[in-house]
Amino acid sequence: MKRKDEKKIILFDFDGVIVDSFELAFKANKTIRPNLTKRDYFKCFEGNIFEEFQKLNKKRTSDSKRFFRIYIPKLFKLPVINGIPKILKLLAIKYRLIVISSTISSPIREWLDKHNLADYFIEIMGADVHKSKIEKIKMVFKKYKVGVNDCVFITDTLGDILEAKNAGLNSLAVTYGFHSKNILDRGNPAGFIKTPQDIPIEIEKYFKKYKNIMGNKRPKILTDAGYEIYCDAKKQKRPARKYVQDGSGV
Ligand SMILES: [Mg+2]
Repeated sequence: MKRKDEKKIILFDFDGVIVDSFELAFKANKTIRPNLTKRDYFKCFEGNIFEEFQKLNKKRTSDSKRFFRIYIPKLFKLPVINGIPKILKLLAIKYRLIVISSTISSPIREWLDKHNLADYFIEIMGADVHKSKIEKIKMVFKKYKVGVNDCVFITDTLGDILEAKNAGLNSLAVTYGFHSKNILDRGNPAGFIKTPQDIPIEIEKYFKKYKNIMGNKRPKILTDAGYEIYCDAKKQKRPARKYVQDGSGV
């Protein structure tokens, strides 16, 4: 039986959502791959970053270690994105917050700690937990015994939206991060967030809409087919009854 005090889970991407690390990450990668252009780098975030680098230049396994050796010490000099601390403080009252990132967990925790933000998160899941965000999202479902209707992912890249979708999870895309709204739109996110101050309201709106569409049914997992119908229903304002109600497909 569901506990009364169970809160919904907000999954937070780290780079581009909580810290503006694009220039640092690009420069660190450029040190390792001198021919890397910004255009190519942006493109890497349209998929899983580790897989995209592998396609780009047959990345050696040592490249990640070299990247983090350059990136991590400089990360600690970067400030938190303006407005984020107040928003996290507010959200942590109502929701359980988890970081899902391709950066390593321990420096994220240290960085959050430095900015007095670590206590707002119940877990940090970095690249050391798994390189796939699909797998990390599935781990969250399993560990916390939640389904897609109990969570949403806040991220700034198309690749993240697609990985979340692959795990059946919807995303709210922030447009102040790495990718532009046009690129993010290709992943058909459940909504857009212009500024950190808009995060709580968009989360509220999302869960409200989701509840309206889902009615009282609580599917264990939203399939890809279910996701498409959900997005269609939003766009075309179809009646809720047309939605797949048990998550098992059409
Ligand atoms: Mg990001």
